[in-house]
Amino acid sequence: MRIILLGAPGSGKGTQGEKLVAHYGIPKISTGDALRAAVKAGTELGRKAKAVMDAGQLVANEIVIGIVEERLGQDDAKKGFILDGFPRNTAQAETLDAMLVRLGQPGISRAVHLAVADEEIIARLLDRAQKEGRDDDKEDVIRHRINVYNAETHPLLDYYGKQGKVVAVDGIGTMDQIFDRIVATL
Ligand code: AMP
Repeated sequence: MRIILLGAPGSGKGTQGEKLVAHYGIPKISTGDALRAAVKAGTELGRKAKAVMDAGQLVANEIVIGIVEERLGQDDAKKGFILDGFPRNTAQAETLDAMLVRLGQPGISRAVHLAVADEEIIARLLDRAQKEGRDDDKEDVIRHRINVYNAETHPLLDYYGKQGKVVAVDGIGTMDQIFDRIVATL
């Protein structure tokens, strides 16, 4: 099973991704988590990425593609994976398709779209800002991240739609309700 979780920041990709990991026993690959770990560790990559992330912009394609390629090449990703936060634009999606061919892996099975309205997204991210204190969960940055999502990432619904791989899931409800909806589509 090779799943992409698509949805605005705060749509629940991280949470549902963790539940899918437990359910299917395949790893989750989150470029956001990998970048935050690099920032925390103070690596050169982390230093480069931090300002861009804090501004709610997308870091360079080469950086995230490098992270994903390295991770997909590891043994535990051979039988499947869940991608959370990647791809984020059409160039990344095209590179991913080519990468899977190169790695001798089957293509993406499904792109699961967690659908949540913008106002609900803003409320959730402001709440997360209070609880987790992420540097990119400030209101102006949140609005910018949603704009970036709509401009850059939302078109991926078309990209994977043309491949017949998109399933839409209502992202409003309890964690378990949403999870059951996802599993029912896979
Ligand atoms: P996330 O936790 O997925 O919301 O990611 C947090 C931030 O990391 C994003 O706002 C971007 O700055 C950066 N980021 C994560 N994934 C990607 C990606 N696939 N392409 C570009 N930037 C990314």
